[in-house]
Amino acid sequence: MTDDRNPATIDRRRFLTVLGTTSAGGALALSGCSTDNVQKLVPYLVQSEDQVPGLATWYASTCTECPTGCGVHARTREGRAVKLEGNPEHPINQGKLCSRGQAALQGLYNPGRIKAPMARVADGSFQEIAWDDAIARLAGALGKAGGRVAVISGAGRGTFSDLLDDWTSALAGRLVRYETFDDAPQRAANREVFGTDQLATYDFGRARYIVSFGADFLDTWGASIENARGFARSHGFEEKDVAKFVFAAPRMNLTGLNADQWLPTRPGSEAALALAMANVLLAERGGGPVGLAGALAPYTPAMAERETGVPAGTIER
Ligand code: SF4
Repeated sequence: MTDDRNPATIDRRRFLTVLGTTSAGGALALSGCSTDNVQKLVPYLVQSEDQVPGLATWYASTCTECPTGCGVHARTREGRAVKLEGNPEHPINQGKLCSRGQAALQGLYNPGRIKAPMARVADGSFQEIAWDDAIARLAGALGKAGGRVAVISGAGRGTFSDLLDDWTSALAGRLVRYETFDDAPQRAANREVFGTDQLATYDFGRARYIVSFGADFLDTWGASIENARGFARSHGFEEKDVAKFVFAAPRMNLTGLNADQWLPTRPGSEAALALAMANVLLAERGGGPVGLAGALAPYTPAMAERETGVPAGTIER
C-alpha cells in the first residue's frame, strides 16, 4: 500500500489524522525513518485483545524448519513476529534453538521470498499473477486432471498437514512430501531391524566412545539440539572421563569440527567402514546372533580400505 504523496507537503488535517491513528494503538504498516516508499498507517478496526501497543506479546508454537519440531516462543510487537526463542519447557529443545530455527523469521520477512502466485510464461521464466487469476487457473487444471493429481509439500505436521491430507483425498490425488534432510531412510532401517519405523533417541550424554558414520548429528541430523546437549555433557570438561568422538565422513562440517579424529571417507562408503569395524569387534570379542559372523566375513579391513580410503590399520585399532 504505497502512498506517493510527498510528506513534506503534509497539511494540518493530515498530520492530526496520522497522530490520532498512531495514538489509537496498533498499526499494520509504518513508513520507517526514510521519506522513500512512504506507506499508509492503518489502525486496527477490531483490535486483538492480545495486543497492547508498546508491549511485546509472546506465543508458544512449534518450529517447522525440520521434522524435530522444537518448541518456540514467538515474540510479537503490534501483531508482527520479531524474534523466536526456544521454549524452556519443551522436552526436546529445553529452551534452545539451532541457527536454522533462529533464522525461521526470514520466511516472513526476507525480501527474496515469494510474495504472490507465480506462473510460467513462454520464455520459461516465472511471473507474478493475481490471486483471482491463480485460483481460477488452478481450479480449471484440477477439474481437467480427473484425480491424476500430485500435491507436493514440505514435511508437514499439525492442522495444516491435516488440511492438505483432506484436500488431496477429496481430489483423489497423491500427497508427496519433500524434506531436505529426510529421515525416511532411518525409519525404513528401523522398521527392518526393530520392527518399528519410529526414530530412536540417542543418549550422547552417557556415551564414552562415539563413532559417527556420516551423521551430522550436531547440525542437520536428527534432534540436533537434544544431541548437542548430550554431547556437551559427555565430551565437555565438566565430566572427568571425557568421551572420545571419531567422525567418519567425506566432508568436514560442524559435527566433524567437534571430533577428536576425522576419518575422511569416499562418499557413500560409510556402510563398508561400519561393517568392517563390526567384523573386527566380533572377531575380538565373540558373541552375536547366529549367522552374524558369516554375514560380516566379506567386510574385512582390507576390503573396507579399498572402498573407503581409510587405512586397514586404523579400522582394526
Ligand atoms: S532442530 Fe532447529 S530447525 Fe529443527 S525444529 Fe529444532 S530449532 Fe527448528
